Formats: sequence, C-alpha cells, structure tokens
Amino acid sequence: MNESLPEGVSREIMDVDVLIVGGGAAGLSCAYRIATEIEKHNQLVADGKLQELSIPEQMIVVLEKGSEIGAHSFSGAVLKTKALEELIPNFKELGCPLDAEVKKDAVYYLGQTSAFKLPITPPPFHNIGNHIISLSKFNRWLASQCEAKGVNIFPGFAAVEALYEDNKIVGVRTGDKGRDKDGNPKSNFEPGLILKAKTTIFAEGTRGSLFKQVSKKLNLREGKNAEVFEEGVKEIIQMPAGTVEAGQVIHTMGFPLSQSIGGTFIYTIPGDKIVLGLVAYLDTKDPLLDPHRELQKLKTHPFIANMIKGGKVLAYGGKTLPAGGWYSMPKLYGDGFVVCGDSASMVDVQKLKGIHLAMKSGMLAADTAFEAVKKQDSSSTTLKSYETRVYNSYVKSELYRVRNFHQTLSKGIFASLPLIAFQEISGGRGLFDNLKIHALDAKTTIKVSEIWGSEGMEAPENKLPPADGVLMFDKLGSVYLTGTSHDEDSPNHLLLQNGDICRTVCEPQYKSPCVKFCPASVYEMLPSTKGEGGYDLQINYTNCIHCKTCDIKCPFENIDWTVPEGGGGPKYTET
Ligand code: SF4
Ligand code: SF4
Repeated sequence: MNESLPEGVSREIMDVDVLIVGGGAAGLSCAYRIATEIEKHNQLVADGKLQELSIPEQMIVVLEKGSEIGAHSFSGAVLKTKALEELIPNFKELGCPLDAEVKKDAVYYLGQTSAFKLPITPPPFHNIGNHIISLSKFNRWLASQCEAKGVNIFPGFAAVEALYEDNKIVGVRTGDKGRDKDGNPKSNFEPGLILKAKTTIFAEGTRGSLFKQVSKKLNLREGKNAEVFEEGVKEIIQMPAGTVEAGQVIHTMGFPLSQSIGGTFIYTIPGDKIVLGLVAYLDTKDPLLDPHRELQKLKTHPFIANMIKGGKVLAYGGKTLPAGGWYSMPKLYGDGFVVCGDSASMVDVQKLKGIHLAMKSGMLAADTAFEAVKKQDSSSTTLKSYETRVYNSYVKSELYRVRNFHQTLSKGIFASLPLIAFQEISGGRGLFDNLKIHALDAKTTIKVSEIWGSEGMEAPENKLPPADGVLMFDKLGSVYLTGTSHDEDSPNHLLLQNGDICRTVCEPQYKSPCVKFCPASVYEMLPSTKGEGGYDLQINYTNCIHCKTCDIKCPFENIDWTVPEGGGGPKYTET
C-alpha cells in the first residue's frame, strides 16, 4: 500500500516509557499493575521505608485499535477472579461489572433430537463460584481504573509496524488515518505516530497481526508447536421477563458439529438474557465449516429451541482463540519487548479459560517492565525475568497441566477420551509428552468431495429455517448486530496474495472455505469477469469483525489480515 506522506507532512514522534499494544484484559492489567507498582514504590520512598530513589513520572501508553476500549473485546466469558483479586483487591467496591456468579453447571450430550445430561459435571467444566461477564464491559471498567492511575489510553490507534534498532524493538508506528481505497491521502488525512518506547508489551490478543510479523522476523517460534486456533461465535438472546434464572453454565457436545471438533456453551445472565455460543477447532478437515451456520442450526435442536422460545437475539460476535497452549507459546521476550495473553497462546483450552491467564501474564509483564524502569535497562538480559515469572506462576501450572490436550482431542472426541483420562491422572503427561501439532490449521483442510460426498451440505438434515431477524439470522443480519463499520473509501485491510488460486484451485476443489468460515460474510465468490469461467473472490472488507479466521484457515494461506484504519471494526458493547 502507498504509505508515503504528503509533502510537508511528517509523523509526530512521542517518547514512551512503557508501551502496551492492545487494550484488552492482558494489556490493561499490565498498565494498571505497573502504574500501581510505581505508585507504591514512590510512597515507600516518601515514607522513608525504602532507601531508593523515587521513580519520576512514567509515560505509560496503551494503544487500542477499536474505536473505544471494549469495542473489540469478545469472549464467552466465564471469569476466574484470581488474577482480578490480586490486581484490584477491592474490585467489587469499585463497581467491577460481573454479570452473575455461577450457581449451577452441567454438561449435556446432544444427539440429533435428544439431550443426555452427564450424571456428574466433569472437573474441567466445574464453574461454580466463577463469574459470567461481558468482556467488553469488563475491559471498559478496567480502562477506567487505569485512567484513574494516570495511564494514557489511545483508542482508535492501530499499531501497524514494529520499529527496530538491529533486533531490538524500540517502539511502533501507528497506522495513518484518512487514506482512500488506493492509499492516497484524503482531505482528512492524519499521519500515524511514531511511538519510541523503552519497553514494548505485545498484548494484541488472538493472532496479533503485529506480533505475527515480530515473531517471524525474530524467529520466536523456532522449536515450538504450531500456533493453532478455535473459532467461536455467540449470540445474546433477550428472553421474556421473569423466565431466566441467572448464574447457570451449560456446555454441550455432539449436535450440531458433525465433521469438526467443538462444542457449545449456554450462560444465563441477569436481565433475562441467555448467552448462546459455539466453538469449533480450526484444525478441521472440513472446507465447509461455518460456525455461524452451526450456531443457527443449534437453535433448531429441541433442547435449545425450548430454552430460547420467545426470545430475540440482541447481539452477535465472533473471534478466534488460541488453542495450542503451553507447547505453542513463542519465546516470550527479547530486546525491548515481552509478549503476553492470547498473543502468546496462553489459554487453557480444556476449560476454555484465558482471561485470568491474560491478566496474570499482563501483571507479570508489568513487574518485568517495572524492573526495567528501575534498572533503566530494557535489554533481553533484564526482560528474560518475565519468562521466569511466567514459569513460576499459575500461568505455567494451569497451562502445563493441559499441555497435550489439544493435540489429543484433535484425534476425535471418543478416540481421545481414554488418552485424556490418562493425562488427567498423570498431571497432563499422558502416554507421550510432548505431543506435536503436525500442521498449521491452514494445512488440514481437504477437498469437499473427500469429506462430504456428492450430496454435501445439500442433505435435507442440513436445511435451516429461513432467517426471521428474531431468532434465526443470516450472516449479514448478524453482522448488523455487531455495529461493525469501516470507512468504505479506505484501504482494504485483507490482503489477497493470489486471486488466481481462488478461481482455479480453491473454488473448484474446496468450495472457497473463506466464504463459509468467515462469520461476517466478508468473502463472496462472484462469476469471473476474466472470460475464463469460474468464480472470482470479492472481499467485502467493511463487514470484517476482526475474528482473524481468514488469516489462519485459508488452505493456501492466501489472506494476510492487517489492521485497518484505527477505529474500524465491530462495536461490541455486551459481548
Ligand atoms: Fe480459497 Fe483462500 Fe481464496 Fe478464500 S482466500 S477462495 S479460502 S484460496
Ligand atoms: Fe474474520 Fe477474516 Fe471474516 Fe474478518 S474477514 S470477520 S477476520 S474471517
């Protein structure tokens, strides 16, 4: 893309002490913690209890690509409060938005029309005492706590390029605003900023686009398992008054997924609302996996249909989540930087819990950055202590216990159960340790004919009721509920490497998986205008809800997800 600046325009340069890329749970916890540690240090010095120099005011900056904090936050979400209790012990007094404490949990197996409740809830699905939250609301609250501590939060600023001095990260450049489709400056053009940082914390969340570049350049994944993912979608359904008891968590297996591993979740929250979600492994062979469609299908199952009868869908969203866990974590530090949270695959994928690990890793990153501030040294020699902190914390103990889980479950639910049971009793080791992840999710897809046969998705049992805009939605109807917007006259952030592959190989053999797996109808195949028959890919990038699935699952790794102009994307408020 054309990134040259108009004549006479230059980029503002800002000096930053601690730069946090990403205003999610990890980044905000990091910002809050470092501000608190500096405050505590200076108080001890002032009280004569610490014989050290006080720390001068530090420029702590959080960059967030969403239009406001929380706009891109999306998760299940059931929160274990242990990191929160440590970070902000009086979180309840400060009005932390916890929707409901979990009082009941259950697991069901769904057949085509039947529902079988497991007699006991397996330990990984124990949630009683945890809290159901909206991550979007939670992060907005966390940001307000950070701002009260003097942290500078810049929403609407997308970091597009890491800045290097040799192999040391020395900050980032944010994206320009006000360029047209072709990259030319418009009348409202604003150049991106250069943020020169002593320490940079990457906390971009799942499949961070900047950390993807950094880890490739600095070879941070050498010797690690491949980074693999799941795709999740969910809806929030408003039910009639007085019909929903808040604080229930139900997980299901079985229907509707038939060719892919995954499951569903149902949470009940105050205000008579039901959260209904579905998660699918992206190492599926199925080129036709369509989580949005599966979520609609889920609502036709008698067990679910009965539960949501009389309801109306209020909100929708989708996102990937890292699934590789401990053995997929990259090297966590280098000269001038550390990486935390989902960007470092820190999710317990067995329990589907990552928020408290993101928060804790952010806090450990903050402790490391605080050490760097005191030593005035952000070299890898100092920042290596972040790795030690992670290894000595429950981030390691929780992830290490399930270090072989994803690799095993990928073999299929029933085939893997005995192996997972053995992992449970051997502290996660199982029969073999470490189990390798054989391939990137992009490389597992097989041809439509090899998996679906001739009838494929046209089989009668795959037919869905028409969208009614109440409980059943097509993708465009769902995208509308996300509040997503991107400037129509701005550069396409979804970079297609080779359109001929789409037309000549992917569509004929794989039926263009992006059309299916994208939860926001961004990709369409339209009759080719090249006069050679077939179909060409059209990218409706303004619909993108930033789930990152296309960057992960295109079988030809033909799409590079880059950050659009800051402020674009979904505007989640309740997810
Ligand atoms: Fe296929 Fe990828 Fe092209 Fe989509 S972008 S049609 S998945 S090659
Ligand atoms: Fe997700 Fe890619 Fe679709 Fe955007 S275009 S919603 S990142 S799959």
